[in-house]
Amino acid sequence: MRKAVIVEPYRFEIHEVASPDLQEGFAIVQVAYCGVCGSELHVYEGKHPKCKPPANPGHEAVGVIQQLASKTSGLKVGDKVAIVPLVGCQECEYCKLGYPNLCKDRKVVGFQLPGCLADEVAIPVNNLIKLPENCHLIEGTLLEPMAVVVHCVELLDRVSHSAKSAVITGAGTIGILIGLFLKETKGLKVYFLEINPHRKKLAEGLGFGVYGKIEEIPLHGERTVAFECTGNKMVLDSLVTYDPAPEVLIILGTFEKSLGLNIFEMCKRETFIIGSQMYTKQDLEKAAEIMASPLKDKFKSILVERIYSLEESKEAFEEALGSKNGTKVLIKVN
Ligand SMILES: [Zn+2]
Ligand SMILES: [Zn+2]
Repeated sequence: MRKAVIVEPYRFEIHEVASPDLQEGFAIVQVAYCGVCGSELHVYEGKHPKCKPPANPGHEAVGVIQQLASKTSGLKVGDKVAIVPLVGCQECEYCKLGYPNLCKDRKVVGFQLPGCLADEVAIPVNNLIKLPENCHLIEGTLLEPMAVVVHCVELLDRVSHSAKSAVITGAGTIGILIGLFLKETKGLKVYFLEINPHRKKLAEGLGFGVYGKIEEIPLHGERTVAFECTGNKMVLDSLVTYDPAPEVLIILGTFEKSLGLNIFEMCKRETFIIGSQMYTKQDLEKAAEIMASPLKDKFKSILVERIYSLEESKEAFEEALGSKNGTKVLIKVN
């Protein structure tokens, strides 16, 4: 089978390798489509802290079960499935408590585990979700980013707040999906902080107000809920020191470990701070329900028109790198 490998920064090769072996509790999935994720662009550029070339990326994937070694999964050969990329160790305190997303030794398909930019991939059956009838394979590639959104909005739901509007910093894929989800399901007025002109245009095209600084947003003295998606300390600081500060602040961006956070300012303004880490299988299942409902048409707007072949993996990654407008680039593997 074919497998796309980032052999060194900015260089892909297609390798001809043996198909994966089928082990008990696993399925062999023939990959149909795979989305290109921002985290993988860091690998492509050789800048990812934990995953360096040679690497076989691909985790936003859907495909068809070809072989199955489990009788209890409720799945069958021929089923169209989405992949849950996160594999917990099942042994640490978090896994035992039901939080595989917080696992201390979590492994992710396409990073520590073989990726889906390959004809076939072996996946634990527990990490597969059968796609609903009316969710097309292409739409299924949005399940993984959608699960990030479902997860963080559920964390928000645990807090009682009175905000009527939301501020989202960063109009990338995740930011845009959060914005659409909040608008459609929570009735919140959504504003973006974004300075990249391409992303700004995309968010404005979807009907959102986009601003360069928090002071420019017409909040009229209202407290908001804020979603930090940039991982930028200056942006975070501007959120927590603005008055009136957000009532709830959900942090999705990846910040450097050593960064000193403005805890004093946050406490002074009684902001609820919530950290959001990836998702669980249940979040992907909820994402699947959404992508099978009429709501899916709202989210499809971020899919790009152009779909690349596995051989064009480099071109796909280059487009994802260059466009910076938050749309998804897809690779059709089979
Ligand atoms: Zn991803
Ligand atoms: Zn664990």
